[in-house]
Amino acid sequence: MGTPYYRRVLLKLSGEALAGDQGYGIDPRTITAIAAEIKEVVATGSQLALVIGGGNIFRGLAASSKGMDRASADYMGMLATMINSLAMQDALEKVGVDTRVQSAIAMQEVAEPYIRRRAIRHLEKGRIVIFGAGTGNPYFTTDTAASLRAMEIGADVILKGTKVDGVYSADPKKDPTAMKYPRLTYLEVLKKGLQVMDATATSLCMDNNLPIIVFDITTYGNIKKVVCGEEIGTIVKG
Ligand code: UDP
Repeated sequence: MGTPYYRRVLLKLSGEALAGDQGYGIDPRTITAIAAEIKEVVATGSQLALVIGGGNIFRGLAASSKGMDRASADYMGMLATMINSLAMQDALEKVGVDTRVQSAIAMQEVAEPYIRRRAIRHLEKGRIVIFGAGTGNPYFTTDTAASLRAMEIGADVILKGTKVDGVYSADPKKDPTAMKYPRLTYLEVLKKGLQVMDATATSLCMDNNLPIIVFDITTYGNIKKVVCGEEIGTIVKG
């Protein structure tokens, strides 16, 4: 079964993680596989909260660079994260994991509002909590939402699932000399401009000493390995 090394974790998934090979939208097989994996993590006794991005559907910055008002575009991006959150809730409940979605933007017909104490209570009862609609504010990202919510719920770590197995000195797909970092400090990430999380999210983690683990989500079983303390990927801490 595995024993959790981290008691409470916040897992950040990019929207693209749900898209599978199609690169857009939600791939039913991919989301079902992630849900099955999350079920195994919950069975270890670890409490898991999720923040899911929206990049598989809509990105505010990309739309505003083509002329759309940035704030309106960002609100659309936040709605995209809600679509992903509801899809993940459905996938988790299909495999028998109790899940609550809490939205940072009021939408009482589809999700609970974000209430910190209530979220913690859900986690204590073994439910997964999905935080949708990012921070609820334009000009932010879901990485920042993940850092903020992780701090608020007292998570021990942020797990950032990506398509690469850690942080590299260059893009390993383009540069054969690219080197993987097993460990980094927050300052190294910021100074080298490494693509771990955006600078706002990284600074927030640095100020509050919250470790970030970047790992490959596309390999089945990795979420559980990380939660059980196996050193895969890259750990960022002070
Ligand atoms: N967004 C926002 N405020 C937030 C979180 C997200 O405005 O607090 C918007 C922003 O437009 C962003 C989009 O939602 O482009 C989708 O989120 P993100 O790009 O972080 O998703 P990911 O890249 O992780 O899939």
